[in-house]
Amino acid sequence: MRIVVVGAGLGGVSAAVGLHRQGHEVTLCERGAELREAGTAVVVMPNGVRALDALGLSDHVRGQAMPAVSGGLRDWRGRPLLVTDAAQAQRTVGPSVAVSRAELHRALRAPLPAELVRTATPVQRLEPDHTEVSVISDDRPVARADAVIVADGIGSTLRGRLFPQHPGLRQVGRLDLRGMLPRPAGLDVTELLAGIMVDRRTGAMFGLFPVGESDLYWFTDSALHGTPPGADEARRQVLSLMADWHPAVPALLEATPPADIYVDAIACLAEPLPSFAVGRVALLGDAAHAMTPDLGQGASQAFEDAAAVTRHLADAGPADVAERLRRYDAERRPRTSRLMLASSQQSWLMSRTGGVAWLRDAVLRAVPRRLATRQLASLWRA
Ligand SMILES: Cc1cc2nc3c(=O)[nH]c(=O)nc-3n(C[C@H](O)[C@H](O)[C@H](O)COP(=O)(O)OP(=O)(O)OC[C@H]3O[C@@H](n4cnc5c(N)ncnc54)[C@H](O)[C@@H]3O)c2cc1C
Repeated sequence: MRIVVVGAGLGGVSAAVGLHRQGHEVTLCERGAELREAGTAVVVMPNGVRALDALGLSDHVRGQAMPAVSGGLRDWRGRPLLVTDAAQAQRTVGPSVAVSRAELHRALRAPLPAELVRTATPVQRLEPDHTEVSVISDDRPVARADAVIVADGIGSTLRGRLFPQHPGLRQVGRLDLRGMLPRPAGLDVTELLAGIMVDRRTGAMFGLFPVGESDLYWFTDSALHGTPPGADEARRQVLSLMADWHPAVPALLEATPPADIYVDAIACLAEPLPSFAVGRVALLGDAAHAMTPDLGQGASQAFEDAAAVTRHLADAGPADVAERLRRYDAERRPRTSRLMLASSQQSWLMSRTGGVAWLRDAVLRAVPRRLATRQLASLWRA
């Protein structure tokens, strides 16, 4: 079958490789001038690693499993709130891994023959008829397809065209800063790795993950709000807010050059889409279910989508497409809708201040480690 994938992010390239390996005639249209992924690192959860296994694309992540770390939640000084045994959870459901986004993207797209990729091809419209879909870029058809997979990300143009009644994105109002740096010599961060620190005085969070043997990936969330300032100014503001945190936090912020700091306004879909499938067209990844980053599931869900759409279209012919994509929708929409809601709830809970946050911390401290670890494993299981 002729299948066009629109958008060459982490989700689009994985789907394109999966469908190509099933013998379909795949074209991958990307608006950017080249295939690349910028930014820092991404945490791929055990369920995301398993989805990459199904696509035959997990070598890169499996080669970099996270070392045995405790994980969980701590307060701003690093005192435990809800410490999980991440190593035990990973033994139960498989490894999670933090990897450089650029390197992961390079590894995922490597099996895709160059002639299947059309860069500098922004797709603005799809024109379906009874037998095929015309893919329109800059007012001219660039391909005709039996099926189209829309993977054009959180700001998806095509989602708005397919669902004109849908309210689209909701700006959450908070900013996320992320940075990556080589591990500073002499700074012991072992107890903070794979964990998140929360500050009930301000609602700010700070997360830290090891990337390979030698790098660290950190993010802060809910520390800043409103319009994103430049990286330099954002770092200055966060440093002043976190000056009395665990000493590793200001040290890591100071050691990261502004050029390696990314500032994003957090957004998510205002409500779940009514369907991920419209005739011969299916949506995948952030285009289908953009969620806040609180559960670290965005990329992992895009990989699950890519594996599912590949499986549903595996032996399909043009006449089967609409029915197969309906099955894809039935499999994927309930799970991703639950995670969208859970991410928003987590976001709300973790950014509380005052009495609610005090109560939250008291409850978290009372949860037994074994129960917390079981909960963590169940989130990663599906
Ligand atoms: C601050 C932050 C931190 C995050 N951290 C994590 C994490 O640790 N773990 C995790 O799992 N997830 C994380 N996520 C989410 C994760 O990055 C996304 O869910 C994931 O990258 C989505 O992949 P995608 O392929 O759907 O979209 P994208 O990666 O956005 O790719 C979309 C692609 O489509 C292209 N495109 C757009 N429009 C068009 C068009 N009209 N025509 C052609 N091409 C087009 C774009 O250029 C891009 O290449 C985070 C997100 C944020 C904002």
